[in-house]
Amino acid sequence: MPIIARSTADKQQDWRQILAQSLKTAHDIRRYLELPSPSDEDQRNEQIASRQFPVLVPRPFLDLAEPGNPDDPITRQVLPDADETTVHPLFSSDPLAEADANVQPGIIHKYQGRALLLPATGCAVNCRYCFRRHFDYADNRISRAQWQQSLEYVRSDNSLSEIILSGGDPLMLQDDALHQLICDIEAIPHIRRLRIHSRLPVVIPQRLTAQLLQRLSNTRLNTTLVFHINHANEIGCELQQQLSIWKQSGITLLNQSVLLKGINDDAQILQQLSESLFESGVLPYYLHVLDRVQGAAHFDLPDDAARKIFRQLHSKLPGYLVPRLTREEAGKSGKTLIHML
Ligand SMILES: *Cc1c(COP(=O)(O)O)cnc(C)c1O
Ligand code: SF4
Repeated sequence: MPIIARSTADKQQDWRQILAQSLKTAHDIRRYLELPSPSDEDQRNEQIASRQFPVLVPRPFLDLAEPGNPDDPITRQVLPDADETTVHPLFSSDPLAEADANVQPGIIHKYQGRALLLPATGCAVNCRYCFRRHFDYADNRISRAQWQQSLEYVRSDNSLSEIILSGGDPLMLQDDALHQLICDIEAIPHIRRLRIHSRLPVVIPQRLTAQLLQRLSNTRLNTTLVFHINHANEIGCELQQQLSIWKQSGITLLNQSVLLKGINDDAQILQQLSESLFESGVLPYYLHVLDRVQGAAHFDLPDDAARKIFRQLHSKLPGYLVPRLTREEAGKSGKTLIHML
């Protein structure tokens, strides 16, 4: 049986090559991390889960997981689980009713002053708890003409002052395509802020290219990069090194996390995360409770438990290191802060 080499990706390797070498089956993840095989029944359910939402994880991310430990907080985020096939009555396939706010393909405008553009359809990693696991990206695979329509929408609504590139993962675009997109956005006078929501640099730190840094540093737009990191173990050496360069650029660096049962549902783990983020120049922004998407119920925590963890966290940290505990609800004008309720 061939062994998948546990090779830490070369620091200089191109992020697209690293992405192309991602692992795409539960079996390969198990071999890479030397994990025990599941029972036949679990394996069958796991295969069903992988058909519903494909397995995808780049090697640099798996290199941060502890081999041999099936409960590792990184492994659990990417390895499909037989529990994903359990249908839960309170969970739906479009919990945020984004189908309604999808004013046209490639753009979601729900909140005042800011709209999401979805320039890329896929991600570099498929997180098993993702609320977009049933999202119809095929419909959002926008053509150049539709792309111009999205920009036209932004141009024609001067109540918009911020564009958020979201996804999928917008950093899946090549630097040249991003460059062009930013040029198009810069040309719209009422847009003052640009925000990029991405998990790609967390799973492939080489994505933080010098070219991208250069482009984002040279824009009239007030620019923010929002990472998605759930556990301090996700901040490896490579990412730390890149962030030490990026934090000198004047680009605001924030992080959002999802509160996940069995992964980070503990005040001490979240405290460590906030402190590690801050040491890397990143401020915690949001701590989202799970969106109730079908297939992710085993990651869910009751709101009371979430609030309890939040209160403990709040007592341990200075206010600027405490993320806002929020839930996203269909039809609301912004995220709902739930720690006060
Ligand atoms: C989360 C989100 C935003 C951004 O909200 P902020 O509170 O500004 O971070 C914008 N639009 C949609 C549809 C969102 O889900
Ligand atoms: S990177 Fe974000 S959008 Fe992509 S699968 Fe993970 S949670 Fe979902």
